Amino acid sequence: MNRIYLDYNATTPLSPEVKEFYIQELERYANGSSLHEDGRLVARHIEKARQQVAGLIHAEPGEIFFTSGGSESNNTVFNTMAQLGRQRKRNVIVTTAVEHPCVLEASKRLAGQFGMEVIYLPVDEYGVVKSRDFDAAMEKQPLLVSVMTANNEIGTVQDIPELCRKAHAAGALFHTDAVQAAGKIPVDMKGWDVDYATFSAHKIYGPKGIGALFVKKGVPVEPLIRGGHQEHGVRAGTYNGPAIAGYGFAAERAAAELDQYGSHTSVLRNRLRAGLLERIPGIKINGHPEKILPNTLNVSFPGAEGEAILLHLDMLGVDASTGSACASASLDPSHVLLATGLGPELAHGSIRFSFGKYNTAEEVDYILEYFPPVIEKLRKMSTVSYRE
Ligand SMILES: *Cc1c(COP(=O)(O)O)cnc(C)c1O
Repeated sequence: MNRIYLDYNATTPLSPEVKEFYIQELERYANGSSLHEDGRLVARHIEKARQQVAGLIHAEPGEIFFTSGGSESNNTVFNTMAQLGRQRKRNVIVTTAVEHPCVLEASKRLAGQFGMEVIYLPVDEYGVVKSRDFDAAMEKQPLLVSVMTANNEIGTVQDIPELCRKAHAAGALFHTDAVQAAGKIPVDMKGWDVDYATFSAHKIYGPKGIGALFVKKGVPVEPLIRGGHQEHGVRAGTYNGPAIAGYGFAAERAAAELDQYGSHTSVLRNRLRAGLLERIPGIKINGHPEKILPNTLNVSFPGAEGEAILLHLDMLGVDASTGSACASASLDPSHVLLATGLGPELAHGSIRFSFGKYNTAEEVDYILEYFPPVIEKLRKMSTVSYRE
């Protein structure tokens, strides 16, 4: 049997269609800013990609700025706040305890180097921002509120339109990291009315190293990378034409396949969830029961240790993950699971299975056959006693 990839929230493969298109585009080496015909052709492909990405998230093409990915887009927004805070005489940034590390680190820098106050909102047991804490934070008249649309580790989806409305009522700008949401659930820049949003291609079957920042028309944005006039001066650097074109193509496919994606991945995710609950006593499912991405399943296995589970899954030929890919090099328990109130021991024994377009029911059934005995074995070996 081939390896079973269940780590789509970490990254996705290029879909075969995108791969074929991307390889063609690699032949177009001209600089997209050059005025000759070859350059103009690359520029046209970039503008087409801008329309395709805008289409996926219901934005205007002029509101899309290409970046190197989600991390850069998030950093661009937080970097903008360093300047804007002085202008607007606002000093408070509100975000959550469960954001991606790039948001947490970028906000830490605002506190450390620019003396801003950063409030990390707590979440409930499902990972949802608590409205009472949110409302209290709005009374501090923040400059920026940044809440991710969907969490990469547990899949919980926040009520972005409602949070954005409240942030605007407090005179704040609103940003959402929507990297995990795009292509999985409907994302609607116009309807949500957010000021900034972050996207990445390699989570939607596009190339790595390319992403987008949505900036609502008229909202200020400061370049993180200065130089040439690319992207209206918002992001300097020679266009990665092939990656941008490939991203556009992937975005168009994701928009066309959205419903199919949701039903395919949720059926498989639910099959694994039900099968694990039936076969392994005492497990805990993390994340919100309904407000959750269709493809994400995060499970705690009391009495077993996450790294050991991962290793055994690896030997079974299954790629899964503990927490986020970015944090898994460290042995610290997931900050997301801790924020949902899980104790360090349970947080340590948690695995994220994230599904994608290419998973099958046979793969789920293979896991359900061979994985439960692994947990049983690990529980027997564990120094922490586990009793059913
Ligand atoms: C993957 C991810 C990012 C980082 O995107 P890159 O393009 O890899 O920099 C940011 N936020 C979330 C929620 C992610 O899942």
